[in-house]
Amino acid sequence: MHEEEIRALAKAAGADKIGFADLSSYEDEFGISRRLLEEYPRAISIGVVLPPEVIDTIGPDGPSPAYARCYRRTNALLDRVARLVASFCSSRGYRALAVPASRIADWERQLGLISHKAVAVLAGLGWMGKSLLVVTPDHGPRVRFATVLTDMPLEVGEPMRSRCGPCRACVEACPAGAIRDVGFDLRPRSRDDVFDYRACLEKLVEFARRPGIGELICGICIKACPYGSGRGRDAAP
Ligand code: SF4
Ligand code: SF4
Repeated sequence: MHEEEIRALAKAAGADKIGFADLSSYEDEFGISRRLLEEYPRAISIGVVLPPEVIDTIGPDGPSPAYARCYRRTNALLDRVARLVASFCSSRGYRALAVPASRIADWERQLGLISHKAVAVLAGLGWMGKSLLVVTPDHGPRVRFATVLTDMPLEVGEPMRSRCGPCRACVEACPAGAIRDVGFDLRPRSRDDVFDYRACLEKLVEFARRPGIGELICGICIKACPYGSGRGRDAAP
């Protein structure tokens, strides 16, 4: 009943994608405490598409200052939309907690309060790629997400099966060798089996020190993905 109002509100505020997730199958491994899951059985996934002209500025050796600026702008936009959506849920008498696009709650394991990507997958907005990015059918992994946790009784989306197939574009492009070419599907494996997040983080720290970057960003595996690149699905080997 409230889904269409939330969609309209979020889109008017600048979001490109909205989905609704049932958190009952959310894996603990991706952050969030059991207590929060009891309080908030549903989540609203909010996505903003990264402009292709900015993705084009990412090189094979790392991110560009233009991408760093876009990352900050996109996070600010997502956080604004998430706060608006959370206020809407509260105004209708439900609990709501806006989780910002980029805030680490557990530095040791590199996890946020909740994984925006796991929520987006549960909401049916895309699948978990081999790169552990959410790959959307139309914009590939060129989408950033924020989340609103709520107890509003929303009609939820269906998780999508992986369409990575034999593609290895992100595996080959990653300068840290962090993507293990194992793949994820609806039943997630352990994150460590799929992805070496320590190797990835080391690379992000190296990039963050470069002039004009100052963020833990990379973008190489985003750019490498054939989905949403304009090269089309057939570009996947
Ligand atoms: S963000 Fe960069 S270092 Fe990390 S997995 Fe992707 S390509 Fe590799
Ligand atoms: S580059 Fe290929 S393997 Fe990697 S996430 Fe995209 S489709 Fe999947």
